Amino acid sequence: MRRSAACLAAALLALTGCAGTAPEDDPAGEPETPALYELADKRTAASDTAMVTAAHPLAARAGREILQAGGSATDAAIAVQMVLGLVEPQSSGLGGGAFMLRYDGARKTIATYDGREEAPEAATPDLFLKPDGEPMNFWTAVLSGKSVGVPGLVRMLERAHEKHGELPWKRLFQPAIRLAREGFPVSPRLHTLLAEDDDLADDPAARELFYRADGSPLPVGHTLTNPAYARTLETIAERGADAFYEGEIADAIVDKVRAAGGKLRESDLATYEAKARKPVCRRYRGEIVCGHRPPTSGGVTVLQILGILQTVDPATLTASTADLVHHVAEASRLAFADRNRYLGDPAFVDIPLPRLVSDRYLIQRAASIRPDSSLGKAEPGLLTRRAALPDTPGGRSTTHYSIVDADGNAVSITSSIEQAFGSHRMVRGFLLNNQLTDFSFQPTVDGRPVANRVQPGKRPMSSMSPTMVLDDDAELRMALGSPGGPFIIGFVAQRIVGVLDRGLSLAEAIRQPSFVNRNGPTELEKGTELAKIADALRERGHEVELRGMTSGLHGIRVTPDGTIHGAADPRREGVALAVPAPGDTE
Ligand code: GLU
Repeated sequence: MRRSAACLAAALLALTGCAGTAPEDDPAGEPETPALYELADKRTAASDTAMVTAAHPLAARAGREILQAGGSATDAAIAVQMVLGLVEPQSSGLGGGAFMLRYDGARKTIATYDGREEAPEAATPDLFLKPDGEPMNFWTAVLSGKSVGVPGLVRMLERAHEKHGELPWKRLFQPAIRLAREGFPVSPRLHTLLAEDDDLADDPAARELFYRADGSPLPVGHTLTNPAYARTLETIAERGADAFYEGEIADAIVDKVRAAGGKLRESDLATYEAKARKPVCRRYRGEIVCGHRPPTSGGVTVLQILGILQTVDPATLTASTADLVHHVAEASRLAFADRNRYLGDPAFVDIPLPRLVSDRYLIQRAASIRPDSSLGKAEPGLLTRRAALPDTPGGRSTTHYSIVDADGNAVSITSSIEQAFGSHRMVRGFLLNNQLTDFSFQPTVDGRPVANRVQPGKRPMSSMSPTMVLDDDAELRMALGSPGGPFIIGFVAQRIVGVLDRGLSLAEAIRQPSFVNRNGPTELEKGTELAKIADALRERGHEVELRGMTSGLHGIRVTPDGTIHGAADPRREGVALAVPAPGDTE
């Protein structure tokens, strides 16, 4: 038994092609007040049956309802997502895209699904350039119809459900339809983001839904109903994803985008396909860490960071906080140098992926790290004619949920409409993404092409990092991920180090103050004890910046005794909900 599972683990690594023995606007603001819900203090939970952890109590509850009705992790994910689109509309929804990892508890394998938005066929590399050839202002681009990519979420969920669903598709929409009709209380986070937004009320549908007649945002606790969203969900529940990609809903999306100057056409929606891809995996400290392949940079960059850290004695990482931050920051610096040069949509960009995550290459990269001095700016490790990606801003949007079902299947999904409230354009009760601003605005730099430039039918590079960790027997040990734009990569890598190197529980690892390096300054979470090591880092040559970092890590850790531990990030409003065994009462 043990041997065959170990073979499965080895096969998983072989399958994935890994040689392995990963502005700026404040991406995430300050820590926020917890929601006023009865469940809001449930940051951690334990179960021996099943678990849901998500960014909003009502979404987690919908997932639990589906699991208790005999649904699979994939079924529960669809219910969670449909409720998130209602109660956390700033972050994700029907108008956006997602990346999904799905673990099969019986076969002990991981499948991944790419529901990333796509540029319309009419998009050209100068999409975000002004007539004088200079890049557009970022926010102007966000609010223009040009930022809206073909939404991929609904196709992706349908594709995953066809393979991994247990309950009928229609059933999975019931909790969200019910809530959209009956209403839900506006949370502190939603209220704050509405209050801080200067542009959302310019969209008539969004103004009517989220603001009072005097222009003030709906207050915390206000019961918000969204009948238009309920009707849209009923249509998709009844007629499947086709009802979203063709016909009335698709036409409404296209009309809205084109009226705002975008290039989307009906044919772009009708031809959109969610892609099934292999995961990318490599070993770290004896476990197998798996992520999603490009077009997200998340999986590869998290694995590069860990692969470089693998060469560092774990005792060094736990010697002091300054040692830990120094080494993780240096590994991250090297990984981001590669990310910004080589990664993009694999349908358009030739990515040397097996090499980038190979032991040989990462050991060579790690050799430049010095224990007492920072590398400063790291250079990419391979020769190429491509130009580096100009730095991209991160938003306050996006969401991550992790679910384990009673059969041991699991999902880890990061879902997004990009900035908070996406492109600020609402159609039929949901918001449209601005994901195309994740492309490089500049198609070339110094005459050299940027891998992540706009091209028709291309998917913009993401940082979303839904991750799973398996043990040597290919048993699931962890599922996690976070929002936070390019900060996501550091948020996730740091927590894997926290659990596997420092022996923290996942909940403790999530609570730890965050630190990130994107091949620039070492960024430390403001208002935390990390300020105390700023001088020690400066002595090693780091430029240090303190900033708010509202990660939204929602993860699950399965301990060897089979206990499923759920953990939700105290920086947002999420919860972990255990699913009681049949017959148990809470
Ligand atoms: N658009 C970002 C990405 O795909 C996600 C935005 C966020 O997390 O705030 O990487």
